[in-house]
Amino acid sequence: MNSIITNIINEIKSKNNFIITTHINPDGDAIGSELALARYLQSLGKNATIINHSPTPDYLMFMLNPNDNILLFNPEQHSSLIKNSDVIFTLDISQLSRTKSLESFIRKSNAEKIIIDHHPTPEDYAEVSLVETTSSSTGELVYHLLKQAEAEITLNVALPLYVAIMTDTGSFKYERTTAELHRIIAELLDAGVVPIKVHQAIYDQGSANRIQLLGRAFNSLVIAGDGKLAYMKISLNDLEETSSNEEDVEGFVSYTLSIKGVEVGLFFFELKNGFKISFRSATTVPVNKLAGEFNGGGHFFAAGARLEDKDMEETLPKVIETAIKYIQEYQL
Ligand code: 5GP
Ligand code: MN
Repeated sequence: MNSIITNIINEIKSKNNFIITTHINPDGDAIGSELALARYLQSLGKNATIINHSPTPDYLMFMLNPNDNILLFNPEQHSSLIKNSDVIFTLDISQLSRTKSLESFIRKSNAEKIIIDHHPTPEDYAEVSLVETTSSSTGELVYHLLKQAEAEITLNVALPLYVAIMTDTGSFKYERTTAELHRIIAELLDAGVVPIKVHQAIYDQGSANRIQLLGRAFNSLVIAGDGKLAYMKISLNDLEETSSNEEDVEGFVSYTLSIKGVEVGLFFFELKNGFKISFRSATTVPVNKLAGEFNGGGHFFAAGARLEDKDMEETLPKVIETAIKYIQEYQL
């Protein structure tokens, strides 16, 4: 029995109105965890409303049933909902600022805040924090919550949990992919999840434009730092000329680590108001610390940063220089 989970279960039993939210640009773990938790709460007859800063990416829409409702935050329509809720769950978030437009409304709300997350160095803004950095995903933690609450693992919750765990483990290959995790997955399959269908829905429904965009990213590849650093970039112009969108770059950064000898891979992505960097580490460099140099964060092996109102080309050399310094400092 995990005592933090016991606290959360008691809160769930005694309260009625729940808000669930997650980070900007939600991924499979974010949306999957939200849906599983919301469906569980709804199965108990509770009001559970998911409100996010960003729209749900198309590649995750297949998980939604007609009666699922993921609200796009609009202060006029939803601020009283946040103010008057009993409990606000923030999922897969270590810094509340990652909820962007919701942040100030959550801070002002008297609702009890509960964090469920697996990132290191969380900000302490909640009454209850279920934070396990050894967990593969937030979805795995939601699974443990449901189990301890003796919820039945129906397909309704199994599918979003599977998506959460699959996407955050790189399809069951990252270091937190344990025998125990596979036992959880076995239970999700017993509930009716069909792996090939989920995989195809997420990874095999992209557009041809996306592949054109990937080609541009490949063309931009630079190897630096004695072969230990690889980076690629996509500009707004690339997006426009290939008729692609922001979601299409999901996963591009992982190709940087497919090159022999590369320890750190970076992906630069220009936004209308600045740019985003994805950081990946092969073995020894803590890229969450590296991302922290640019106001970002994340996990040891996968991190990110958003540099608002900064010019990508102007700032890029500084990022490269810092990355090479980290590689030198942390290499074996
Ligand atoms: P990705 O590169 O896939 O967008 O992000 C990798 C990981 O880095 C995410 O799972 C998240 O934990 C973290 N991350 C991404 N962007 C940011 C950011 O702007 N700020 C912080 N603190 N973490 C980020
Ligand atoms: Mn996650």
